[in-house]
Amino acid sequence: MGKRLPMHGEKTIVEHITVGLGKVSAALRSQAWEGGIERRLTPTQGQILLFLAARSGTAVRLNDIAGELCLTAATVSDAVMTLVDKKLIKKARSAEDQRALALTLTAAGLLEAKQTSGWTEVVQAGVSSLTPDEQAVFLRGLTKVMHSLQQQGVISIARMCAGCAYFQPYVHADSARPHHCGFVDAPLGEGQLRLDCPDFVPGVERDQERRWQTFVRGGQGQ
Ligand code: SF4
Repeated sequence: MGKRLPMHGEKTIVEHITVGLGKVSAALRSQAWEGGIERRLTPTQGQILLFLAARSGTAVRLNDIAGELCLTAATVSDAVMTLVDKKLIKKARSAEDQRALALTLTAAGLLEAKQTSGWTEVVQAGVSSLTPDEQAVFLRGLTKVMHSLQQQGVISIARMCAGCAYFQPYVHADSARPHHCGFVDAPLGEGQLRLDCPDFVPGVERDQERRWQTFVRGGQGQ
């Protein structure tokens, strides 16, 4: 008979996955520190540049950055001040709210953001080692984890398909592309789900709950 694996202190699969996510996060942080020393940016400043680059030149308010990056407004304000001094960010009054500041990248900031995006390459290499099917399952799993974090109030609303007014889950018979995006009017496969989409429009609460339930049930009982 083979030896039994030690049971004392054994972790559950949920705990193992949580440890794994923590290690991925630590890898990103250490890359950010390493790359930041070279580029003279803190990880927070780098995150802000990447966030503004992802918003493709749209003016963003300070509170939006704080909510998205799970940082305090004071931390973001300090980092933004430094980035403005470095001429990587410019600020102006928001067109929607004259009391709020709207931030965009300068040309130098955009270039810096492109170089900063190299910080994530190590994790991208790991994710690329998964098969397309494994990536699709992982993406679905992350969508559910992010939804739970949103429900718990830990992260702000992510611009992901599962929360988008354009998303129609399981409306196509084709199992390879069962979902539909009303924005581009095209079917979507599980591997095409977005976790940060520039065309995202938040769904209204009642529709959102129905949409979410259809998505998690895999289209059963629609
Ligand atoms: S607009 Fe973007 S987030 Fe919305 S369903 Fe289409 S791809 Fe997904």
